[in-house]
Amino acid sequence: MIAEVIVDIAASETDRIYDYLCDDDMVVGSRVRAPFGGKTVPGFVMRIKEKSDLPIEKLRKVIPTPDELPALNEECLALAEKLTARYRVPKALTLRLFLPSEMRTGKVRELTRNYATLATPIAEMKLSKTAKNQLGAAEYLAANGKMDCAYLNNMFPGGVAALEKKGYVTITKEQILRDPYKTLDAESVTRVLTEDQARAVDIIRNDERTVQLLHGVTGSGKTEIYLTLIAECLKQGKSSIFLVPEISLTPQMLSQLRARFGKNAAILHSGLSAGERFDEWWRLRTGEAKIAIGARSAIFAPLENLGVIIIDEEHDSSYSSETAPRYNTFDVAFLRAKRNDCKLVLGSATPSVDTYKKAKEGEFSLIRLQKRINKRPMPEITIADMRREVRRGNNSAFSGVLKEELEKCLAADKQAILFLNRRGYSQTVICKECGYVAKCEACDVSLTYHKDENCLKCHYCGMKYNTLPACPDCGGFKLSYAGTGTQRIAYELEKMYPTARILRMDNDTTSGKEGHYKILKTFAEKKADILVGTQMIAKGHDFPSVTLVGILDADMSLHFSDYRSGERTFQLLTQVAGRSGRAEEKGKVVLQTFDPENDVLRFATAYDYEGFYENEISLRAAMAFPPFSKIVRVLVTGEEDKKTLEALRDVYFALEKLYTDNPEKFLFFNKMRAPIKRIQNKFRYQVLMRLCDPSVLPQIYNACAEARTRDVLVSVEENPTNLS
Ligand code: ADP
Ligand code: ZN
Repeated sequence: MIAEVIVDIAASETDRIYDYLCDDDMVVGSRVRAPFGGKTVPGFVMRIKEKSDLPIEKLRKVIPTPDELPALNEECLALAEKLTARYRVPKALTLRLFLPSEMRTGKVRELTRNYATLATPIAEMKLSKTAKNQLGAAEYLAANGKMDCAYLNNMFPGGVAALEKKGYVTITKEQILRDPYKTLDAESVTRVLTEDQARAVDIIRNDERTVQLLHGVTGSGKTEIYLTLIAECLKQGKSSIFLVPEISLTPQMLSQLRARFGKNAAILHSGLSAGERFDEWWRLRTGEAKIAIGARSAIFAPLENLGVIIIDEEHDSSYSSETAPRYNTFDVAFLRAKRNDCKLVLGSATPSVDTYKKAKEGEFSLIRLQKRINKRPMPEITIADMRREVRRGNNSAFSGVLKEELEKCLAADKQAILFLNRRGYSQTVICKECGYVAKCEACDVSLTYHKDENCLKCHYCGMKYNTLPACPDCGGFKLSYAGTGTQRIAYELEKMYPTARILRMDNDTTSGKEGHYKILKTFAEKKADILVGTQMIAKGHDFPSVTLVGILDADMSLHFSDYRSGERTFQLLTQVAGRSGRAEEKGKVVLQTFDPENDVLRFATAYDYEGFYENEISLRAAMAFPPFSKIVRVLVTGEEDKKTLEALRDVYFALEKLYTDNPEKFLFFNKMRAPIKRIQNKFRYQVLMRLCDPSVLPQIYNACAEARTRDVLVSVEENPTNLS
């Protein structure tokens, strides 16, 4: 037999089907190893046929991989073909979406790990006081018992090895049972659905339309509706996909799912080790697990016979991929729902304007949940006018009313959440004498000061720089640290309330698989009084003791020059406010702004989604912004400016022709430097278009695929969430 094989090399030169000889029992979708040039490379069998157009003596033979099942099922293969055609990327790139990386690279799965146990009581060890890592590791082992060596080495580099040499510690190799969430406490509760919830489930079951939008205020019990739908599918032997924006941020959701569905649920997310991800994926592929839970990429779960697909927080920007192929999760979900003839449920308290428009016009079904469970009121939002604070001489990050409420909250032994979407200590370092701004050498952006590490960091590439003793340009000493970040807020809170326990959650404090989980757990157990954080804290968490939420800078996201900044601000504020007063106690929210009359803020404080939507949609219509048009950005990036410009010229030439041939389909067409001219040493240029007729999209994708070279990336972004 002949196998049509795609080799797993993501280059346009090898992006075609190759014929190979194969055994008669070869199955479509299987992984193989294919002799290719002088090497053997991984590949996938796309089709099997009797004859090749090539003479048989020219064909080489593929080596099968001993998988119990072909890696890709039929639905995945079909979906991969559609996506390849839609986004015009090499087929290998699309196929990779469907497989855990470990399977592709074929590395041996790690099955054992080293564990350390104390062999000698600490008191009997002869350790020098300066051997901090050995002491630390020994104390940790004494307190916690047997421990993973890699884990200990992270905290106390070299400590365990030195202890073992002295015979104080024994190291054993043991098989690991990869249960990524063993630390989650499971509490299984089945709830009787409220009338509203039961009605929603009923509509979703019976409505004809594929897409069902669940528009429910925060705390209206959407999760319970999802779980009911999933449980029902499970009973019928059907599988489900449940997507959440960033799963490691919602351990509470995870423990609920684990408690309810046990081993039927497989959890896929980026925080898992490659081995864990592989195991979870394999359980789905074999059908042992029927529920795939995860972020965006879980939409590619190898499930068959889908009964429902759920996208929670459907408005979240993490649902568009920022690497090739830049797919939109909804589009993939819709294709799968159609193929399986199942429902696609979108849930949000603040649906995207695009989605809501379709729901209002009847394309999607619209289900409203207007009350919180047990009719708990929405927290009351007080606006703090920061202009007035400044006039009164208060230049701090805290308004009078926020301080007052914080004090009340602490005195009542309740918890508070303070939200500021800016990490680090201060955002920029500026010389007051000459205007010099400290910038990253590899990126065209200013550096953020981090006090705990005492360095300047680039938030785009992660590079660290020493702090500046003086201005490198003029030698002056008047360096000012402007733009308060979360570190500084935590630092100032410590000064203001010395007895309060303060916790910070942002990208700098949440490294590691369970980084988020640990912080959230500490807060949930009331071992801290105030949680300061970036938008990570806005999502989904349910802390019953939180009665106060402070939004320190409500204006921040309003000032991005992006048609969606109003929408994003409304969503963020509503989400953050929803963290307050979720249990018996009534919640409060203090929203600080320099622009209290702003429409978006007004609608957000009144919890008036409908009002916000009507206002926003008429603005979009007047400006012919999406959903009344489509914004397309072609981004050209490369390390060498000259080559990058050449590729830009090529793609621009092709696009300009398209534009002059079809002027009626374009509202806007221009090429320019990207707003951030360089990121990670790569120069960035863009062609920006606004289409009133998207029928030219395939030609745009084609032009980009042709302009792509070995050194220059040319990508297409549709309605990009980030225009930097
Ligand atoms: P949403 O996802 O809409 O923000 P949640 O699903 O988090 O809302 O529900 C809010 C709270 O109400 C949670 O604490 C949840 O446990 C509780 N809850 C949900 N449904 C019910 C029910 N039918 N009976 C009792 N409590 C419920
Ligand atoms: Zn940088």
